[in-house]
Amino acid sequence: MNELEIIFYPHPTLRHVSKPIRKVDADLKKIVARMFELMYEHKGIGLAANQVDLPLQLFVINLEGQKDEGEELVFINPVISQPKGTTTAEEGCLSIPQVYGKVTRPESVHVKAYNLQGEAFDHRVDGLFARAIQHETDHLQGVLFPDRMTDNERNMIDGELEDFRIDFESRRRTGSQPDDEAIQKRLAEFEARYC
Ligand code: ZN
Repeated sequence: MNELEIIFYPHPTLRHVSKPIRKVDADLKKIVARMFELMYEHKGIGLAANQVDLPLQLFVINLEGQKDEGEELVFINPVISQPKGTTTAEEGCLSIPQVYGKVTRPESVHVKAYNLQGEAFDHRVDGLFARAIQHETDHLQGVLFPDRMTDNERNMIDGELEDFRIDFESRRRTGSQPDDEAIQKRLAEFEARYC
């Protein structure tokens, strides 16, 4: 699974609605280990499966963002409920590097998920933890943080997003980026195996 790499906006897999995972095998554990490795390498605190071009309801979080510090948490098939309050803060995303924007979200939520051992767990979370969980759960639904910004706020980063779109199209033209058909075929193979 060492071939997994972070994909960047506007890669179509970032808009893919992920399917629940029905089976955890040794390869999926390797995928999770690789996701943590990539997350630390790119200095993030959370990474969703879509961001490594996988169609699975899975994300990892370590709020410390450092290997050997903080707690490594794996969320499989997460469900968010009971939102309370609202809070606004700046967010970024490893798939849109160096771009930041203000996003308003519920201050606290309840989350239910499974860990890599297949055990169900649930937490009431708030603060940065709640924000990270909501940001990553959005990824699994094909939602990116700019989608959650106000139109006025998003206008301020539109030039930067346009640069990402231009870069993506140019990589497509040179063939260094697979076409939609190849991407869909690969996603379907992973869905057949895990979902
Ligand atoms: Zn993100």
